[in-house]
Amino acid sequence: MTETATSSGGGGLDGYVLRPGDEEYDEARAVWNAMVDRRPRMIIRCASVQDVVTAVRTARELDLEIGVRCGGHSVLGLAVPDDGLMIDLTPMGGATVDPVHRRARVQGGALLAVLDRESQRYGLATTAGNVSHTGVGGLTLGGGFGWLAREYGLACDNVVSFEVVTADGEVLRASRDEHPDLFWGLRGGGGNFGVVTEFEFELHPVGTQTLLAELTFPLDDAVTVLRGWRELNAQAPRQATFQADVDGEGVTVGYVWVGDPQRGRWLLPPLRDLGRPVAERVVEQSYVELQTQSDAVGRHTFRRYSKGHYLPAFPDEAIEALVRLGATDGLPGGGLQAYGGAIADVPEEDSAFSHRQTLFEFSTGSRWTDPAEDADRMAVARQAAAVMEPFASGVYVNALSDEGTEGVRRAYPADKLARLTTIKDRYDPDNVFHLNQNIRPSAH
Ligand SMILES: Cc1cc2nc3c(=O)[nH]c(=O)nc-3n(C[C@H](O)[C@H](O)[C@H](O)COP(=O)(O)OP(=O)(O)OC[C@H]3O[C@@H](n4cnc5c(N)ncnc54)[C@H](O)[C@@H]3O)c2cc1C
Repeated sequence: MTETATSSGGGGLDGYVLRPGDEEYDEARAVWNAMVDRRPRMIIRCASVQDVVTAVRTARELDLEIGVRCGGHSVLGLAVPDDGLMIDLTPMGGATVDPVHRRARVQGGALLAVLDRESQRYGLATTAGNVSHTGVGGLTLGGGFGWLAREYGLACDNVVSFEVVTADGEVLRASRDEHPDLFWGLRGGGGNFGVVTEFEFELHPVGTQTLLAELTFPLDDAVTVLRGWRELNAQAPRQATFQADVDGEGVTVGYVWVGDPQRGRWLLPPLRDLGRPVAERVVEQSYVELQTQSDAVGRHTFRRYSKGHYLPAFPDEAIEALVRLGATDGLPGGGLQAYGGAIADVPEEDSAFSHRQTLFEFSTGSRWTDPAEDADRMAVARQAAAVMEPFASGVYVNALSDEGTEGVRRAYPADKLARLTTIKDRYDPDNVFHLNQNIRPSAH
């Protein structure tokens, strides 16, 4: 007989079980979005691969819905199943770096902060996101975009191998040579195929220095500024990632440069020449400081709702729409971050991640604290996204919120969705792992 947490009473675990009423229970079920208030029947805080195997088998034996938790940043709180079993990977939060072979082995519950910190001891890094309390797990499985992506590809492009616990409780390794179909699906297909207990990443000698430049211009000049910013982006080297934000206060454009700050400064004069900036922020900081600078803005405890689009081009009409959005009272404004470079070099068929030729990712969202505002705040974020929808083609799967099946169809073109379905049929035909942006097996 296989051991489960019920047959072992939880005593056979390296970690431990939490149930409603236990001291740590409420803290363990809380995630980034304060709107999420679900109560798992059981939380298994897994401390080893064997614990994850036990957790999957326990859930199946008791017929409990599974949620898998890494950083808890999914805006829908997909890690937390109501009345189900949460596989809480947070105790598996470590990373070890081999500086000689430039590899990091990262446990399935690790946060980006750990990966960055351990890699930077040697001046190394791999692509990670912009807020360090995001989970390596969800971010990488959906793609993983950050300041290094234009130079080194997405987080998922830098994975050499995954260790995975499947729906049957089997432990597999997926790489280009072992279970290559699973390896393909895990790079962009989300948490659909199993619980990843370890990611092996390639690291790069990025050094420890960065430069951030942000210039704010009045909204009246925003169309001209964004046109010029678009042209500069087209010439920008891969060390630079351009970004822009528009709201009622104005338009802020700029870039992040990873590497020697002096070498990144040449982009500043042409940016200043785009108009008459009312504010300028130029910051030289370490890579670890860069990676944590948005942690407070992106912090927990707020109620949240967000939407995203991929923009394959940014014609004048899209610029005008974005500026209109910024100028509309009551709407939350929106931001752009540049793709291109190494992301677009990877052939589309190489991984499940899709829409590699995207020029910019657009995102918008609201944060608030009063539950009475839920409906209004969600409505304005939807309206803001609708303004840019005519220019969109596809969406980042990790930017989806409550779009459901329609959203999954936007995240993956039909041929990739068919291939993902085949992989799902093979590794999770019963859809045990469905609290995610779900790839449904053919029988469901
Ligand atoms: C403040 C903030 C900043 C962000 N910045 C970026 C960014 O810069 N770049 C970017 O690309 N994305 C970014 N994102 C989006 C982020 O990639 C997704 O929200 C992602 O799902 C978060 O992963 P997580 O592990 O923190 O979340 P969780 O809620 O723990 O997990 C999300 C999903 O992934 C699954 N999952 C997580 N870990 C595993 C695992 N080990 N094995 C199997 N399944 C797993 C979960 O079951 C769930 O379905 C950001 C999100 C937030 C909230």
